[in-house]
Amino acid sequence: MKVAVVGGGTMGNGIVHTFAQFGNEVTLIDVSEDALQRGVGFIEKNLGRMVKKEKISQQEMDDTLGRISTATELSSAADADLVVEAVFENFDVKKQIFSELDSVCKEDTILASNTSSISITKIAACTNRPEKVIGMHFMNPVPIMKLVEVIKGQATDDATLNTVLEMSKALNKVPVTVEDYPGFISNRVLLPMINEAVYCLMEGIATRDDIDTVMKLGMAHPMGPLQLADFIGLDICLDIMEVLYDGFGDSKYRPCPLLRRMVDAGHLGRKSGKGFYDYS
Ligand code: NAD
Repeated sequence: MKVAVVGGGTMGNGIVHTFAQFGNEVTLIDVSEDALQRGVGFIEKNLGRMVKKEKISQQEMDDTLGRISTATELSSAADADLVVEAVFENFDVKKQIFSELDSVCKEDTILASNTSSISITKIAACTNRPEKVIGMHFMNPVPIMKLVEVIKGQATDDATLNTVLEMSKALNKVPVTVEDYPGFISNRVLLPMINEAVYCLMEGIATRDDIDTVMKLGMAHPMGPLQLADFIGLDICLDIMEVLYDGFGDSKYRPCPLLRRMVDAGHLGRKSGKGFYDYS
């Protein structure tokens, strides 16, 4: 199977790693040589870690790297059977990429997006092959997390869905099929929980540590909701709550004012050094 991945950031490099590890020829496409080198650097580091932990052999690492090539032009995806897009979460950027992929790729290429919150139906409408456009929502870190949320757009046909479900299984993942509604399942269930934890903090119902302890020790979650929010990025959490709020028009999805205030202050979580916890 020939695969192209557009965007080699946090998610894209994990997606390239995973497809290559399970025997697929993969082309990583990003905007510059610098970005490509960074992406491949992460893949080498993560494969090296798997060798050290004896999860794969040195030979498997070398073979995996041997199946990866890089490019800066979308036309390099022309003969791919599947393209997975993992660029910034911005509709205009994705629109441009899907419309160009539609014109350069062969007729039966499946075009998938790893978007967390943009409608697959809307992305598909930027192409002349909406029946071959689908969501493949991998989780971070991709080589480790077992789930792939497979999102069916309004026009996605059964052949495309079945191919992507089979491909996901061939990556040793567990796919679930989800209809195209805001937040899909993962973020629709997770983010309101995080948002509610922020309300509890804002209302002084319990301390930060106690809120996280309740969910860790009481519900066996590996991380408390406030710690997880810091890990995801508070700006991303706010964006997803806004997608749910706008998409359903239901007040139960209103973002917590404290979440908004923290984002306004630039306290975005781990990536900015400060969120609900201090990482400095
Ligand atoms: P990122 O910012 O880490 O990486 C984005 C990459 O896309 C960068 O390498 C950038 O150079 C590249 N890029 C931007 N414009 C491009 C273009 N026109 N052509 C080619 N490459 C381009 O982003 P990320 O966190 O990996 O997120 C990517 C997608 O995955 C988003 O849609 C996001 O919603 C989704 N997602 C993210 C996570 C997560 O935990 N980070 C989880 C699930 C889904």
